[in-house]
Amino acid sequence: MDTSSNEKGQPGLAKAALFGLCPKCHAPSLFDSRNLLHVRFAGKCGQCGLDYTGFNVGDGPAALLIIPIAALIITLALWLDIAANPPFWLQVVIWVPVTTIITFISIRIIKAGLLIIEYRRDAREAGGKS
Ligand SMILES: [Zn+2]
Repeated sequence: MDTSSNEKGQPGLAKAALFGLCPKCHAPSLFDSRNLLHVRFAGKCGQCGLDYTGFNVGDGPAALLIIPIAALIITLALWLDIAANPPFWLQVVIWVPVTTIITFISIRIIKAGLLIIEYRRDAREAGGKS
């Protein structure tokens, strides 16, 4: 996957996804700022008017994240258990918030990345308006 800036002067995919940049005008308008957790797409870009509702990333972000995050958390929890043998309740108190925070941060980045890829490749749902 090419994450560098391309010949059209667009920011790289990683930078655009990390900062939630509009794929058309590169304004940081991809996410609904009224949403407390900022993981929901805005309806359209406040700067260029690009309609984000025409894009559908579906369950892609969750599918891409569930295994890597589970592997990371299980590895860290096992390491902590072997290294310090904390009580079970302490493991829960540590790993539930850590998992939640990592999920919310990474799902935003993955959602933005998938929408930007859809825009750059002009991908639309079959049967929809062009
Ligand atoms: Zn825009």
